[in-house]
Amino acid sequence: MTSSLLVVGSVALDSVETPFGKADDVLGGSANYFAASASHQTPVQLVGVVGSDYPIAKLEPLAKRGVDMSGLEHAEGESFRWRGRYRHDLNSAETLETRLGVFSHFRPKLPEQFKSAKYVFLANIDPRLQLEVLSQIAAPKLVACDTMNFWIESRRADLLALIERVDLITLNDGEARQLTEQANLVQAARWILARGPKTVLIKKGEHGAFMFTKDSVFYAPAYPLESVFDPTGAGDSFAGGFMGYLARTDDLSEANLRRAVIMGSAMGSFVVEGFSITRLLEITRADIDRRVADFHRLVSFDQALPA
Ligand code: AMP
Repeated sequence: MTSSLLVVGSVALDSVETPFGKADDVLGGSANYFAASASHQTPVQLVGVVGSDYPIAKLEPLAKRGVDMSGLEHAEGESFRWRGRYRHDLNSAETLETRLGVFSHFRPKLPEQFKSAKYVFLANIDPRLQLEVLSQIAAPKLVACDTMNFWIESRRADLLALIERVDLITLNDGEARQLTEQANLVQAARWILARGPKTVLIKKGEHGAFMFTKDSVFYAPAYPLESVFDPTGAGDSFAGGFMGYLARTDDLSEANLRRAVIMGSAMGSFVVEGFSITRLLEITRADIDRRVADFHRLVSFDQALPA
């Protein structure tokens, strides 16, 4: 049974430089990537804000894919802009500029029909906005959040308050180390688990992702792609695949969480094949099924020793 999935996050214009090319003012932001990815699994409710300069028509393909945009506010002023660069190490983005624009005065007000969301993803954005959205949701079944170095540095206290209220957190390895001040990732996960979340997902770019709970660890490799074009949005698309799968199946067992991690890894592997959300809009259910089957082959082995 499909359950409702809500996301709040940045709706951005990104300018990105990679060793393979450059894109200016393209559709980006954590909420856009998440929604484009999750919409392959389930309808999505999006909460965010755009400025008067936003090319609204470019969001139409998302609306057509089942993303409910009635929680997207249109404000006077400049849209959120992020400018970043990847050098040969495609695992870490270098932020050149972050301009919050209309996000600095945004006070999210959820449409009535969003308040009963069961699955909630507080994507990377000011933790105060993540908290404001969370406080408007009546009885969520699973609340997950993401963040990044920008907010760990500038809003640490709010972020720690948020972490106490979520069931699951996704972070990349650098962010996990920065947040917890632990060099070892297992200890970083323990540090977070001690503060409230029951599940911690630590992503390591091309080296895959770990899911930690109090009693278990699961590891999924990243799909071994021959060419990665632009890593922007990999984390949010991972989260979209993961949360979308959980909302679609409405099953929070350990076995299903593991399947969701693989779906997240599959979706992350598509988005990096092109700039912006282009690939996420092109792929079909059959492409996704094939990639999930590839993952199954990638990690299957026979445990028995040869006689
Ligand atoms: P990722 O999935 O981690 O690669 O996220 C990429 C997206 O994060 C880009 O499309 C950016 O617009 C967005 N982003 C970058 N910095 C921030 C920030 N400080 N707050 C919210 N979103 C951001």
